[in-house]
Amino acid sequence: MMGLYSIRMRGAEGGPHEEGGRHISGAERIVEESDLESIAASLIHRALQHSKGKSDFINICIDAVHDEDIMYVDCIAIEEHKSESVQESHELAKDLLQSVVNYKAVEQAFTELGQLSGNMRGAILLDANTGVRLDQDHMRGVRVSHMDACGTEIRPMNVHMREALVLATKVQSCSGIVGELCWSDDPDYTVGYVACNGVYHRIPNMKDMGTPIGGRVFFVDINRPIREIVDYLENTTVLVRW
Ligand code: AMP
Repeated sequence: MMGLYSIRMRGAEGGPHEEGGRHISGAERIVEESDLESIAASLIHRALQHSKGKSDFINICIDAVHDEDIMYVDCIAIEEHKSESVQESHELAKDLLQSVVNYKAVEQAFTELGQLSGNMRGAILLDANTGVRLDQDHMRGVRVSHMDACGTEIRPMNVHMREALVLATKVQSCSGIVGELCWSDDPDYTVGYVACNGVYHRIPNMKDMGTPIGGRVFFVDINRPIREIVDYLENTTVLVRW
């Protein structure tokens, strides 16, 4: 059997991210060696053709994954919600989150995302009880990485939803994280979600069409060292079973 590889792409405009370039697109997969070249081509295409702009810096990083380092987790359940306005969607998201997160922290999450003047590459970590921000690098946040899905997809879904479900499943599998709030930075994609209690709540109209800023918040509820949580999110290889 051929081995698996992790392949990760990040693209920016105006130079590399670390030299102040604007983040355009990031994506990753875990694939068989025989699929690496075609997946690399599709990731380059994404960096060049994104609705947020054209990357003039593209970084692709590939490394082998060892079978014994892979954690398998089952995909979380999906619930589809309906809503007619951004206000209605935010109220619904707040209600859902309040089953696991303190009211104050939920409000703080919406304030933080509402105040973003540009896109972060990662997520904001908030204390689920107090709403205090826990991540160290406020410009970057915590970027979840080393994940993909395996097996046959449970239902047809667009690439946004596939990636969000994989990410949300990994985040829900992290001991210490009780909830997540997200809406996309893709100006054309207004669907967002809340993940909590092992359910991905897919919510339309989480932002106005055309808005180029999105974000993510992870709510942390136990007394576990933040560096362990961040290490799991960034470095543990997780394959999500559909
Ligand atoms: P997206 O759903 O890809 O449009 O991303 C929406 C927002 O979520 C981005 O602006 C980032 O702040 C954050 N984000 C995107 N990818 C990740 C990731 N892999 N880990 C953590 N946060 C992310």
